Amino acid sequence: MTIKISLNPNALSAAERDKKVAEGGFGKYYTDHMVVCEWDEKTGWGTPELKAYGPITLDPATAVFHYGQEIFEGMKAYRQPDGGVALFRPEANAQRFNRSAKRLALPEMPEELFLETVNALVSQDQGWVPNKVGESLYIRPFMIATEVGLGVRPSNKATYILIATPAGAYFDPSKAVTVWISTEYVRAAPGGTGEAKCGGNYAASLVAQKAAAAEGCDQVVWLDAVERKWIEEMGGMNLYFVKGNKVVTPKLTGTLLPGITRDSILSVARDLGYETEEVMLSVDDWKNGIASGEISETFACGTAAVVSPIGAAKSKWGTWVTGDGNPGKITMKIRETLLGIQHGQIEDKYGWVKRVK
Ligand SMILES: *Cc1c(COP(=O)(O)O)cnc(C)c1O
Repeated sequence: MTIKISLNPNALSAAERDKKVAEGGFGKYYTDHMVVCEWDEKTGWGTPELKAYGPITLDPATAVFHYGQEIFEGMKAYRQPDGGVALFRPEANAQRFNRSAKRLALPEMPEELFLETVNALVSQDQGWVPNKVGESLYIRPFMIATEVGLGVRPSNKATYILIATPAGAYFDPSKAVTVWISTEYVRAAPGGTGEAKCGGNYAASLVAQKAAAAEGCDQVVWLDAVERKWIEEMGGMNLYFVKGNKVVTPKLTGTLLPGITRDSILSVARDLGYETEEVMLSVDDWKNGIASGEISETFACGTAAVVSPIGAAKSKWGTWVTGDGNPGKITMKIRETLLGIQHGQIEDKYGWVKRVK
C-alpha cells in the first residue's frame, strides 16, 4: 500500500508552528496535514491520501449524521531523548479499531494500512510533536459511515480520517479529581457497545457528565447496568485502586472499554514490585475500603491524561476521600514509569515503543 502525498502548500512556518505548540492546551490546533481513505463495499479500501488539514464536505443525508455509525481511536506520539519520535503500542490501537469496526458494522481496516497512515502523518508533521516529557502529539483516527440515504442499514461506504493535535502537559499534581458515582445513568449494558470506542457511547454519557458537574464533581464513575453496584470506569478512562502492595482494576466484563493504558499498567505495576488483580469491585468495597484504610489510593488511566489521581468520590451513599485527597505515592510512581517508557527514558522491555521514521 502506498500513500498518495499531496503536501499542504500553506503549511505553517516552523516559527509559527512552534509558537502554537508552545501554547500547550489540548485540541486547539491541528497539524498541517490529515490522511483520508475511502472504503466502498464493492471495491474495498482505496488509496489513502495525505493532504492539507481542512474541512470536509458531506451530503446532509449521509448516514453518520442520522444513525451515529462512527468509531475512533486515541493514541500519541512522544518525543524521544535523541530528538526522534515514537508511538506507544500502535498495533494495539489498530486491533481495537477493528474490534470497534466490527461491532458498529463498519469495515475492518488491514492493520498495516492503519499503521502506515499513522506513521505517514506523524512523520510528515513531526515538527508538531512537543519536546517535554508529559507533552505529546495526540492522534485521532476515526471512521464514519458515508452512504447517502436515510434507510437504516449498515453503510456500504465509509471514510477513514486521521488527524493530530499537540497536547500540552495538563497534569496538575496538586489537583486530584472528584468523581460522581452515577446511579441514574449507565454507560454500557451487556450486549451493547461498551467495549467499542464509538462516538455514540460518549453522546449518551454527556448528560451524566452534566449531572456530575451539578454535584460539584469533575467526572462520572459508571456502574454496571444490571445491578448498579459494580464499578466499571470513570468518564473515558479505566480505574485502579491501591490496596497495600496490590494494584487492583475492575475486570473486563464486556461492558468496559479495554484500555491500552490499563493493560500496560498491569505489567508496569508488576515490574515495580506490586501485585496486580483484575476483579469485580463494588461501590461498597470502595466505600468500606476507604473507611478501613485498606484502599490507600485511587486513580484513573487513559492515553490522554496517562494517570489521573482521584481524591474524592461522591454518591447517593455519601462522600469519601482517598488518603489526604492528594495524589498517592504509588499512583505517581506508576505514572512516572509509564511516561518514562513512552519517552524512551526507561527501558522498554516489552517492545511497546515504535519509532517513526
Ligand atoms: C479510550 C477509552 C479508555 C482508555 O483507553 P486507552 O487505550 O488507555 O486510551 C477508557 N475508557 C473509555 C470509555 C475510553 O473510550
